[in-house]
Amino acid sequence: MNPPIIDVERPEMRAGIGYDSHRLATGRKLMLGGVEIPSEKGLAGHSDADVLLHAITDAMLGAAAKGDIGILFPASDPQWRDAASSIFVRHASELLESYGWMIVNVDAVVLLEEPKLQPYRDRIRKSVASLLGIDPDAVGLKAKTGEGVGPVGTGQLAEAHAVVLVSRSRVPKVM
Ligand code: MG
Repeated sequence: MNPPIIDVERPEMRAGIGYDSHRLATGRKLMLGGVEIPSEKGLAGHSDADVLLHAITDAMLGAAAKGDIGILFPASDPQWRDAASSIFVRHASELLESYGWMIVNVDAVVLLEEPKLQPYRDRIRKSVASLLGIDPDAVGLKAKTGEGVGPVGTGQLAEAHAVVLVSRSRVPKVM
């Protein structure tokens, strides 16, 4: 019998999932994917509460099985107060890179009653892409409402879901 052929060119792939939610409040900015969206209400939280970047950061960390945003950036730590969430994304990027992971693509869903995000979709995709160092073409973004029902539909909450795919070269096995 021939020994199994190991394809060292075939990359190792992993997927990660992320979810986050933040309350909507007056007197706060609405930050989504690093873009400030004009809105009567913004997202409340310890950092800038960018619900989309938080979901993406968790998906990145999940793909590499390296904990989550709450472990790496605890709300109890004053250094993250009002922090730009781009810091979390960059930190997760560096962590993934240190394990040889490269991001292949991101897909995300934002649930928000208003404002409608369609006019900002491409700006948000570009912003996320530039934070991750990938092509905007590799960033999917859907915006949904809560159909007037529940915490999202009544304008109390914003939610985001994200999936991230990462890849790295397989370490050749020593036979
Ligand atoms: Mg959060």
